[in-house]
Amino acid sequence: MSARPQVRVRAPGKINLALRVGAPDEDGYHPLATVFQAVSLHEDVVVTPAAELRLTVEGRDAERVPLGGSNLALRAARLLQERTGITAGAHLHVVKQVPVAGGMGGGSADAAAALLACDQLWGAGLDREELVALARELGADVPFALTGLTAVGSGRGDVLTSAMVGGSYHWVLAVQDEGLSTPEVFAAFDDDGGTHAPPPHLGDGLLSALRGGDPHELARHLVNDLEDPALDLRPELGDVLAAADRAGALAAVLSGSGPTVAALALDERHARSVAAVVREAEVAREVLVVTGPAPGARVLEHVTGTG
Ligand code: ATP
Repeated sequence: MSARPQVRVRAPGKINLALRVGAPDEDGYHPLATVFQAVSLHEDVVVTPAAELRLTVEGRDAERVPLGGSNLALRAARLLQERTGITAGAHLHVVKQVPVAGGMGGGSADAAAALLACDQLWGAGLDREELVALARELGADVPFALTGLTAVGSGRGDVLTSAMVGGSYHWVLAVQDEGLSTPEVFAAFDDDGGTHAPPPHLGDGLLSALRGGDPHELARHLVNDLEDPALDLRPELGDVLAAADRAGALAAVLSGSGPTVAALALDERHARSVAAVVREAEVAREVLVVTGPAPGARVLEHVTGTG
């Protein structure tokens, strides 16, 4: 029996428990202070040997994923080739669970998973720090998809410090039909006076709530400075937040630049009941129950090939 070499890597989607945004710098980039939490909605990237780099995608929103050179998984594989001088190709197959353009970092998870999977397939042997450095070049959310769990992000969100978390949290995600463009939401933030925003700052409350593990306490500290600009662009998101509130969620917050709304529940049972009520309100395409923190990108299977 001969087996074909294959590597399967899983990387998590994320929500932002806090997202504070400062005024844009001279390059137009906004300094961020954020707390990411990886959740149990993930992307799998399966890589097998091929002459060239090529990509196929299946799963949630697969039809919305660009298959050309702009795809973050392909860009990750190409960057690894360039930096290591490796000329081998690969077939990257992405199995998506994270909604596209949902503010949950799905493309970033694909990039992180592709980096790790191709590193293994090609035997490039990069260490964690080298992978994180490449991840940072690919996008501000990519390093977090590698490390996962719960972390404070500063700079552009790419300078990470891990956060201590007691226990796990139960979230209800309201996923929308149509995504929101991250640059458009930041432009709306600027139009709303964001060009004069103070430097972003996270209070101590959120981090001590996370350490304590009490969801009631955490609920008091969820915050997102992009919520108002996203609501300007998509007023219906107000109905989603209101539905989560009526459903008895402890609190609800927009994830990243939206439009996914994350509602915090007390425990798994409560999460299922909140989800049922939000579903009945018909304010979302899909309502999912997830937990966090979830681990960062990890190898699930590595067949080295025999025969
Ligand atoms: P952000 O990290 O900007 O918050 P997001 O989570 O809102 O992103 P993504 O699903 O990562 O959204 O995708 C944003 C855009 O990136 C998509 O509209 C798509 O055109 C492009 N894109 C590139 N590569 C991918 C990928 N592998 N999966 C999904 N989208 C991708």
